Amino acid sequence: MKKFRLLTPGPTAVPEETLLELAKPVFFHRTPEFRQILGEVIEDLQYLFRTKNTVIPLTSSGTGGLEAALVNCVPRGKKAICLISGRFGARWRAICQAFGIEAVSVEVPRGQAVAPAQLEQALRDHPDAVAVCCTLSETSTGVANDVEAFGKIVSATPALLLVDAISGLAAMECRTDDWHIDVCVTGSQKALMLPPGLAFVSVSDKAWKQIEANRPCAFYFDLKKARQKLATHDTPFTPAHTLIRALRVSLKRLRAEGIEQLWVRQKRIAEAARAGFKAMGLELFASRPADGLTVVKVPENIDGVELLNRLEKKYGLKIAGGQDDLKGKIFRLAHMGYIDQFDVLAALAGVELVLLEMGYPLEPGRGLAAAQKMLASA
Ligand SMILES: *Cc1c(COP(=O)(O)O)cnc(C)c1O
Repeated sequence: MKKFRLLTPGPTAVPEETLLELAKPVFFHRTPEFRQILGEVIEDLQYLFRTKNTVIPLTSSGTGGLEAALVNCVPRGKKAICLISGRFGARWRAICQAFGIEAVSVEVPRGQAVAPAQLEQALRDHPDAVAVCCTLSETSTGVANDVEAFGKIVSATPALLLVDAISGLAAMECRTDDWHIDVCVTGSQKALMLPPGLAFVSVSDKAWKQIEANRPCAFYFDLKKARQKLATHDTPFTPAHTLIRALRVSLKRLRAEGIEQLWVRQKRIAEAARAGFKAMGLELFASRPADGLTVVKVPENIDGVELLNRLEKKYGLKIAGGQDDLKGKIFRLAHMGYIDQFDVLAALAGVELVLLEMGYPLEPGRGLAAAQKMLASA
């Protein structure tokens, strides 16, 4: 029997051909062969980001990319507007605080998206803001923010738009250049189908101008230094080169499908997941849901922690719970990267079985049928 299915919104499952690449011996990285690999990976990333800008690889988890974006773009003592719809939006603010950047918070209740009008107001109140920080897919609540609308607003001002697209990029529509995203950040362990360890940031010309004018408070995450090395497909420090070699394999897989087709397929899977949970009588948590994960409220009288324990222990389905004060109140099912529609059907079936065991009134198969109908209708 299959012992385990990893269905959390990071880390996510890795395809077999990428795992095989990770099993190969370690090599030396300052060679023409590795430069060739790095060049290919950067080009495939530009394709996925939908950008002509430089995409810089960093050896860190996703948060390192967020830190790199902020400390390079915003000088100490200056202001950044942080649009906060959950834990990851709040991380932008925490990074600002760690580096002496003044964070202006625009915060909405958990489960909601930040309204573009709130951003307009914040920019009117703080015309001196150097950057606006936001989250495409807020992984703690399942909310998608309207980054396209944010981009229209911010591009008309001198401020830079910094986007945490860590669980959004390659999981849902994200057009870095068309949407005027100045710095777009993603990580390796979500939709890019790789273990954790790499972050990627794209940097627009508008952002480079700002970065060149600053004296960034960074050493390891100095983006100017990284750009200079990248010109010859090199890195300032030892890169996580075995991960980069494996990333090439995962990116080829994404590119073979095509990004627009991928967005359509992701949307369909997300719709199926949402229809399935709703048909079980469950409520979705996000008012404006993202396509890479579905977040569901745990029904009254059901112990959410116990629900996830049973799913994992009895059925090998690893779904994420809520974090902080949402612990036990929601669960979060990922459907991005290597997690496909049949994994979602497995998760729906597992949730039905466990809810039945826990005494929740349910007609078995209801959720599954609704999800299948949604898949069949597309
Ligand atoms: C996973 C995730 C992160 C960060 O991750 P680490 O890789 O743990 O540093 C940041 N933002 C969002 C939206 C995420 O989903």
